[in-house]
Amino acid sequence: MSTPHTSPAATAAADAADASTKPSNFLRNVIEQDLEQGTYHQRQWGGSPGDAAHHAAGIQDPAAVRMRFPPEPNGYLHLGHAKSIWVNFSMAQNYGGACHLRFDDTNPEKEEQEYVDSIREMVQWLGYSTEYADVPGQPGALQPHVYYASDYFDFMYRAAEYLIESGNAYVDEQSAEDMRTNRGDFGRPGVNSPFRSRTPAENLARLREMRDGQLPDGAAVVRAKIDMASPNINMRDPALYRIRRATHHNTGDKWCIYPMYTFAHPIEDALEQITHSFCTLEFEDQRPFYDWLLTKLCEGGLLQTPPPRQYEFARLNVTHVITSKRRLRQLVEEGHVDGWDDPRMPTIAGLRRRGYTPDAIKLFCERSGVSKSGGWIDYSTLEGTLRDVLDPVAPRALAVLEPLKLELTNWDELFGAGHQEPCLAPINPHDEAAGQRQFTLGRESWIEAEDFMEVPAKGYRRLYPPYTGGDGQPKEGNKVRLKYGYVIECTGFEKDAEGKVTKVLAQVIADTKSGTPGADSVKVKGVIGWVGAHNATPAEFRLYERLFKVEHPGEADLSEELNPNSLNVVQGYVEAGLLQTLQAESEEPKPQQVERLGYFIRDRKTPLTAEKLVFNRACGLKDGWKP
Ligand code: ATP
Ligand code: MG
Repeated sequence: MSTPHTSPAATAAADAADASTKPSNFLRNVIEQDLEQGTYHQRQWGGSPGDAAHHAAGIQDPAAVRMRFPPEPNGYLHLGHAKSIWVNFSMAQNYGGACHLRFDDTNPEKEEQEYVDSIREMVQWLGYSTEYADVPGQPGALQPHVYYASDYFDFMYRAAEYLIESGNAYVDEQSAEDMRTNRGDFGRPGVNSPFRSRTPAENLARLREMRDGQLPDGAAVVRAKIDMASPNINMRDPALYRIRRATHHNTGDKWCIYPMYTFAHPIEDALEQITHSFCTLEFEDQRPFYDWLLTKLCEGGLLQTPPPRQYEFARLNVTHVITSKRRLRQLVEEGHVDGWDDPRMPTIAGLRRRGYTPDAIKLFCERSGVSKSGGWIDYSTLEGTLRDVLDPVAPRALAVLEPLKLELTNWDELFGAGHQEPCLAPINPHDEAAGQRQFTLGRESWIEAEDFMEVPAKGYRRLYPPYTGGDGQPKEGNKVRLKYGYVIECTGFEKDAEGKVTKVLAQVIADTKSGTPGADSVKVKGVIGWVGAHNATPAEFRLYERLFKVEHPGEADLSEELNPNSLNVVQGYVEAGLLQTLQAESEEPKPQQVERLGYFIRDRKTPLTAEKLVFNRACGLKDGWKP
């Protein structure tokens, strides 16, 4: 036999196939070009966020690139955020960079500690660290890069004063309505505010009055002085600061003026020495202002050059899934789901409780690609990715979701009363090293109700008793294998008064146990799952379907879009020994493959007891969705 070899041509073809199937990510090209051209080579890093002077006193930045994930802590992270986390953290990781977790908490009213904590937990759970060894003078010392935008309020105010002093901003006291009218629209240029021609000194005095609380809420705003006739409405003197008397969770009552998001965000990036500021496409029209602002502040020597640059990519949309915090909140508040971490929720907390692993979520982000044009990713891609990730690693287990009793009537005579026959099964058939699991077969077992039919349908290969065929001839009962156990032959069944089948009767065929020389002596067409009734552990199974029956939810009323059958709870059993395995594992539940029935994970919110286990089904083994 010749040794296998691959020709160079075959390798090239395989590479090409790989490149064409590999999802594209244009942001990689952007970074690679910057690295090649040394765009950020000379950058200094002061060890923490700061202005030009702070960074100039630092060291050459040991991070080749810097990215950030900047959530507003006003809700739980969802799948869309996971995409953004993956984009920023994995790209920083791949290119020898650093990624900051920045809480965008400049809006005084909405943030809550609960959200901050959960966001930190989820980023960590996804496997990303915010710790980097880049402290000047302390080589090797790790430092977390978790920042709060509200810590930059002082600098933002200073930047506003600078823009006013340099004639690039003014205080506008038009009414909100006049301001709106005078902004113009797509077809009509704006009109200059009568306050636009004030001198810098006048404007500065007014700004300080705003800051000192001498003007009521809404009486004035600070605006950049750019171009009221710009075709880009965002460049028509955008607002930088507003007056708002509100207590901020971090700065308390120190401020009664707060920066606008469009002003704050570029500054946050620049203070943190971000090189590549990735955001979703809706911010594309903000980019000219982003560049305008940072150019002015660099010119004034407030910020170190070169400033960060913004790049936009299409947001992640998945069919049957909502990724909008506002809509998700509505689901929780109106009681359509059982909290933010309900396993049907597309929050990261919900996905985790459902059985998604960090690897599956990250691979899905990668498969969905990073591009400039949006679109919908099919929900089946999400589930398919989970199966691909779990199949090679998930431990197997047998369980019965809709139990029906099976009695092996010749058990006692074959083996003696009370005998329990040990059976071995691989923990994972793809991974021999994972070892084997053991459970026992006895006289009575639980089997799946659908694995028995009184009279078999055409092509049915599982259990059925002797019956009279359509041709009037008597037919034999069927033989199947109890997985990892014996071949059995169905001999009859019992029914209750309502005609419901209560028990299936069968006989063991001696010497046919799996793994023994006689295993193949009797050929069968069906193999069924079972758990020994003498020591099965009771379990509740929560079977989930898509939360929304419509493909593109969020367009109509929730009540019309929700799938009324998104949760089905059943009571069954799992194989003996699983409870002990689960008790021995770390606190983090791990998904299991229940043979033939899908991937399940024990519910992290239910205590682990022998009375009853609770499992969430992550997904079936195949895509079985029927709209
Ligand atoms: P939502 O609309 O759900 O409130 P958001 O964009 O307001 O989301 P932020 O907390 O401001 O939420 O978002 C943090 C980061 O996550 C931003 O950079 C944002 O662009 C990104 N992000 C949010 N949703 C998605 C998505 N569906 N796909 C990719 N990135 C997203
Ligand atoms: Mg937002």
